[in-house]
Amino acid sequence: MKSLDKLRQQPNTYKRAGKTLIKFLPALFLPLLFTFNAIGQKLVINSYGFKIAAEDTVALGKLVRYEAFVYNGLFDRNIPDSLPVVINLYKSKSQFLKVRDSLNVSVTTTGFYHARTRQCYVYKGSDFQNVIVHEASHLFMHYHKYYAAPKWINEGLSEFFEGLYLDDRGRVYIDPQKGRLLQVRNYVNNNEVDLADYLNFQKDAGWTLKNEVDFKYNVAYAMVYYIIKTNPQFIKLILAALDQGNTSYDSLAKQYGSFEYFENRFKLYYRNFR
Ligand SMILES: [Zn+2]
Repeated sequence: MKSLDKLRQQPNTYKRAGKTLIKFLPALFLPLLFTFNAIGQKLVINSYGFKIAAEDTVALGKLVRYEAFVYNGLFDRNIPDSLPVVINLYKSKSQFLKVRDSLNVSVTTTGFYHARTRQCYVYKGSDFQNVIVHEASHLFMHYHKYYAAPKWINEGLSEFFEGLYLDDRGRVYIDPQKGRLLQVRNYVNNNEVDLADYLNFQKDAGWTLKNEVDFKYNVAYAMVYYIIKTNPQFIKLILAALDQGNTSYDSLAKQYGSFEYFENRFKLYYRNFR
């Protein structure tokens, strides 16, 4: 699901150029760039109230295939090509909201993944491509039986993948969500971040409360971003530790030597983030 407020980057387009763009491909993802086309993850877009442009379908197919490939690598297990990634895309906001309500989903106004239907539902707003990649991430997590993973890593990874885009030569890049990271810099400098406390409240309602949801998503994204930026291989190990029943706290402590060390490094990284 997406957070409510729009601390969002501009919608990605295919022809994204310019100096503000930070291009990076973490070591984890580097080998994928050259081979991901070999994966044939099928993307099915059911468009309601409009006809989706052919180039949108092609671009989204590439992004979702790439995403599937990264997830296959993270979990050492392939999603079968035959499993389609189904996206229901609505031109009309009211139609989207009607479907949302009929599936008993609340809060989101942009998109969600539904665990029972195993499909994604997205409103065709200006950033619908990012939302699709975000929701598809939840689908892959579910497929790999990680849908019940702690919110911070589930949403953090979704937010991370949301930054996937294609350049004008069709290459996949990640565009960091700077707005979220700058917010985290502010939290850190205002001493508003206590990561142990944050992780203790994973299951709490804060993820759907209007006044807390941004904080939750921003910190989740910042944690995943920091880990991928500095030790991308840790994501896989942390997911494995979580799968073995460890808490988030212990899973992070295991990789970083101690949780305090992780938290200190995290804060140091964001204190002067620009
Ligand atoms: Zn989400």
